[in-house]
Amino acid sequence: MVKKLKEIECFLLDMDGTFYLGNRLIDGAQKFLQKIEQQNKKLLFLTNNSSKSSRDYQQKLEGLGVFVPPENIINSGEVTADYIKERKEGARVYLVGTPSLQDELEAVGLQVTTDKEGKIDYLVLGFDTTLTYKKLWDAHDLILDGIPYLATNPDYVCPLEDKKTMPDCGSIISLLKTSTGKEPLVIGKPNTLMVDYVARKTGIDKKRIAMVGDRLYTDIQTAVNAKITGILVLSGETSREDLKSAPQKPDYIFPSIKELGEAL
Ligand SMILES: [Mg+2]
Repeated sequence: MVKKLKEIECFLLDMDGTFYLGNRLIDGAQKFLQKIEQQNKKLLFLTNNSSKSSRDYQQKLEGLGVFVPPENIINSGEVTADYIKERKEGARVYLVGTPSLQDELEAVGLQVTTDKEGKIDYLVLGFDTTLTYKKLWDAHDLILDGIPYLATNPDYVCPLEDKKTMPDCGSIISLLKTSTGKEPLVIGKPNTLMVDYVARKTGIDKKRIAMVGDRLYTDIQTAVNAKITGILVLSGETSREDLKSAPQKPDYIFPSIKELGEAL
């Protein structure tokens, strides 16, 4: 396994807590990008948030003064769409998700519905900020009918400004687990499906891919599961103190991407 930093060709970067914090860039983020470009390496942003599209994130980054093409931003919704398409072209999907996630599924030719009558091939649960009781009830029925059940991401809450949070996909999973006793296949981090997707799309060997992030149980766990290099930055959720008791052991630890950029 290649674990040398200089041999990494593709960096997968978490966003919040790693590249920016709320609405400001992490110090050194621009320099990190420049370094990646100078060295002809690849940088892809990886996010579990399925409520927003790549374009939404592109606009957010642009607002922070960073231009990134939308195809370099990969969210769990895009990978969920690919997962279904690979198994059934044109599948009919009952969606508990936002219009952005619907676009993501339709972009690969899937039929999206919120009418549970007729044949449903997959039930997809996302970070649905447009959730209604009807959608929950339909999902409950479809799960009990044995329809293949996917969820975009396992996060219980989504971080907001000032340490506030909002309920995320994982909390909706919990509700439906209580009502049905069943759990979905979860596509986003720490599952390896997002890394597999990148490896297939870019043709880069997993040995030369690294995951960079601020959360041990999602970002670093993804690296562990996918057997790729894991780089922890201490600019977000994790402190040095947390590391002592954590089961995940990152290959590298940096205060932030500033120091990671300097080490490349
Ligand atoms: Mg993060």
